Amino acid sequence: MTYNTQPTASHFVDGKYVEDKAGDPIPVIYPATGEVIATVYSATPAIIDQALAAAKRAGKEWASMTGTQRGRVLRRAADIMRERNHELSVLETFDTGKPYQETSVADATSGADALEYFGGLAGAITGEHIQLGDDFVYTRREPLGVCVGIGAWNYPTQIASWKGAPALACGNTMVFKPSETTPLCALKVAEILHEAGAPAGVYNVIQGYGAVGAALITDTRVAKVSLTGSVPTGRKVYAAAAEGIRAVTMELGGKSPLVIFDDADLENAVSGAILGNFYSSGQVCSNGTRVFVQKGIKEAFLARIAERLKGVKMGDPQDPEVNFGPMVSQRQRDIVAGFIAKGIAEGARLVTGGKVVDGNGFFIEPTVFADVTDDMTIAREEIFGPVLSVLDFDTEDEILARANDTEFGLAAGVFTADLTRAHRMVAGFEAGTCYINTYNLAPVEAPFGGSKLSGVGRENSKAAIEHYSQIKGVYVAMGDVEAPF
Ligand code: NAD
Repeated sequence: MTYNTQPTASHFVDGKYVEDKAGDPIPVIYPATGEVIATVYSATPAIIDQALAAAKRAGKEWASMTGTQRGRVLRRAADIMRERNHELSVLETFDTGKPYQETSVADATSGADALEYFGGLAGAITGEHIQLGDDFVYTRREPLGVCVGIGAWNYPTQIASWKGAPALACGNTMVFKPSETTPLCALKVAEILHEAGAPAGVYNVIQGYGAVGAALITDTRVAKVSLTGSVPTGRKVYAAAAEGIRAVTMELGGKSPLVIFDDADLENAVSGAILGNFYSSGQVCSNGTRVFVQKGIKEAFLARIAERLKGVKMGDPQDPEVNFGPMVSQRQRDIVAGFIAKGIAEGARLVTGGKVVDGNGFFIEPTVFADVTDDMTIAREEIFGPVLSVLDFDTEDEILARANDTEFGLAAGVFTADLTRAHRMVAGFEAGTCYINTYNLAPVEAPFGGSKLSGVGRENSKAAIEHYSQIKGVYVAMGDVEAPF
């Protein structure tokens, strides 16, 4: 392997790489081959303390800069990230196993978008003036302080950037803990931010398993926690944050509905279902894994999706021709295989795929089930793998209740040629992120996040500013003070 996947050191703290081999080793495994491509060490209490102390100290200088000055750093970082897109995409592919064909257009590029967008917005983050006769109130929009970011393994560069960019734009500092499964990419985000001029300590990355995340959340120096992860982890993190009444953003799991009406453009609907189930080998939180297809179009839909899946090219994810990679880990592959077995056992019809691919990599075939019913396990639980379930429906009246009959509420989509129906459906969806005649696009300008068990708060867009800042109201009296005695 000519590419060096071993990072300079495990952590990036106070503007530099630091190592402490006393922590538990974390092997980094290339999912396409099962090879260990790097080893990092979990943060020790000393490293955790160093990172939080650096973030706390750096906050003073960072928050005292103007928004435009902070924004300039973020925009410079965006430029560096784009210049290094190839190198960062290769690393993202080693870290996650996602094909280079995807990572070269969806990861560092998305991180750069966030840095550019929030860099541009930073100078426009202001309070307001409220006139009350002669008196008035003005508000100051202030940073929260030290923010902790905790990442999932599916989009390591993107998650590190989506959390870091708005946090830093608002004048906060960050300690980011990537997933132990994909620890490499966030270090590059830290390196780039500091190369772009972020003062030491503004953005720190430390490695570790859940315990390191847990230790960060309860530290009194921490003002906010933003997690991307599963619902069970979300519950723990939210509860731990609640003890100190800390602000949270929770980007959690989903089991989103994608509703395809008879009148939909078949080819576009099939493309939407592919994007919503097989991109990143299905390891996307907002995936539309419950595909409700109206009975009139169902057989045509199934035939066409089976046909289109012949275009899947599985193989070495670093090969730009390959468009379908492995699961991130053996564990995840086994979880997905377990769901497939359950789908078959519970009576779903396997249309295509379903098999684990022999070899050392963690590949599993893209899988389509038909005749899935609402109560089957594969229609209720988040699989986080390339498993698409087709459920039938007759009428619009029936489908909304079924689409919403889930504890999750991350995303929802509808394909139809009927404009008013599309908007009726979207108004009724219990989900934070909705799509009409497309699926799974997440531009930085648009809010992203979930309702119900899928989360709290929003990432991206102007909405993220609300979640990384607080308002201080200042009453200014222009006359004498009236008191009752
Ligand atoms: P996970 O919940 O297992 O882990 C997420 C992160 O939390 C990891 O960094 C982990 O080390 C950390 N963690 C675990 N226990 C912790 C604790 N007690 N305290 C603090 N931190 C702790 O999730 P995963 O398997 O890495 O990712 C897959 C999940 O993430 C799926 O459910 C998926 O839907 C969700 N996800 C959501 C979004 C979104 O934006 N809504 C995006 C990507 C992934």
